[in-house]
Amino acid sequence: MNYPFHLIIKPVGDQCNLNCSYCFYKEKSEEGTVMTFATLEKLTQQYIEEQPGSCKEVQFVWQGGEPMLAGLSFYQHAMVLQEKYRRPGMAITNAIQTNGTLITNRWIEFLKQYDFQVGISIDGMAGVHDAERIYYTGKSSHHKVIEAYRKLQKAAITTNILCVVHQNNVGMGKQIYQYFVNDLKAKNIQFLPVVGQATIAPALWGEFLVQSFGAWCDDGVGRVSVQLFDASYARIIQGIETFCVHSHECGQQLAAERNGDIFSCDQYVEKQHHIGNVTSESFNTMLAKPVHNEFVSMSTRHDIACQSCEIKGLCQGGCPKHRDQHGKNKLCEGYYRFFTHAIPYFYAFGECVRRNMPVYQYRRFLPEITMKIA
Ligand code: SF4
Ligand code: SF4
Repeated sequence: MNYPFHLIIKPVGDQCNLNCSYCFYKEKSEEGTVMTFATLEKLTQQYIEEQPGSCKEVQFVWQGGEPMLAGLSFYQHAMVLQEKYRRPGMAITNAIQTNGTLITNRWIEFLKQYDFQVGISIDGMAGVHDAERIYYTGKSSHHKVIEAYRKLQKAAITTNILCVVHQNNVGMGKQIYQYFVNDLKAKNIQFLPVVGQATIAPALWGEFLVQSFGAWCDDGVGRVSVQLFDASYARIIQGIETFCVHSHECGQQLAAERNGDIFSCDQYVEKQHHIGNVTSESFNTMLAKPVHNEFVSMSTRHDIACQSCEIKGLCQGGCPKHRDQHGKNKLCEGYYRFFTHAIPYFYAFGECVRRNMPVYQYRRFLPEITMKIA
C-alpha cells in the first residue's frame, strides 16, 4: 500500500449487554462467538505489514456492540500479537469504544498499562441517558457508567465521551455540554446524531450544535476538544480533513467483523459492502476491488443542492449513511445552520493563532470578521 488505512475491529460483532432504544444493530445478545485467536493474528499481521513503509503509527480501534464482551484475555493476547508484528520504530496505539458497564479494576489496570484511549458512551445527565441506554431488564445504566468513567479518570486514562444526540437530549445542547465539562471534567467529547428510525429533526440538530458550540466558545476553546468543532477549525484554517463525516470521500476506514470479514466502513457492515476476508486475502487486494471503489465514488455523489451550497467545502454533504435516495443529507438544515453560524468564529480563532495570542481572545476579531463575511 502507498497510503495508510485504518481499521475498526468488532471482535464480538454486534453483541451487547445493553438494549439502547436507538441502536441500529440487529443482533442483540450478551453471549455469542468471539473472534478466534487465529483470525486475530492474521488481522494483526496484515494490518501492520500492509501499511506503507513511511507509516510510523498504527491504531487499533476496538468497537462493537460491546467490545469488552470479548473478555480481558482476548485483549491481552492482542497486545502480544501487536508486539510480535510491530516494525522497529513503529508505534502501536489502541482505542476502545465501550458502554462502560463492564469496566472493573482489572480492566482499568490493563487499559492503563497499554495506554488505551477509552471512548465511553454517555448521553448526558441520568434522566436523558437512562431514557435510551438501558439493560435488557429495563434497568438504568447511568450510575454504573459514571462510576466507570470516574475510575478511568482517577487512573489518568485518556477518555472521550461519545454522546448520542436523540429525541430526549436534542433540546439541551448547552446543558449537556456543561454537564460533561463542569460535572464530569471531560476533555474530549463527540456528538453523534441519531439518524434512522428515530431521526432527530434537522432544525433541532442545528440548534443543539449552535448551543453546545456557544457554551464551548465561552470556556472550552483551546481547552476541551469537541470533535466536530475541532475538525471544522482544522478544515478551515489548516486545510486538513480529520473527521470522515465532513471529508471529501470515504473509504480509508475499514471495518473487520469477528470472522475476518472486511467491509468498506463500520456504518456499512452489510452484504453489498463486503470486500473480502482477511483470512484469505490481503488488504491490498480488497481495497483494489470494484466494490470498494464504488463505495468511495458513492460517497462523493451529492444532492444537487450540495453542489451549489456555499458551505459544501466544509460540510461535504455529511455521512452517506445519513443521505436520502436523492443524495440529500437528512440533517442538511442543521448542518447549514451550524456551519454558517460558526465560520466567523473559526476565522477569529485562526487570527489569534496567527498573531500568537491565546485562542480565547478571539472576541477581539469576531465583529470585524463577521462583517467581512457578511
Ligand atoms: S460512510 Fe460515514 S462513517 Fe463511514 S467513512 Fe463515510 S462518513 Fe465516515
Ligand atoms: S449544508 Fe446541506 S446542502 Fe450544504 S453541503 Fe451540507 S448537506 Fe449539502
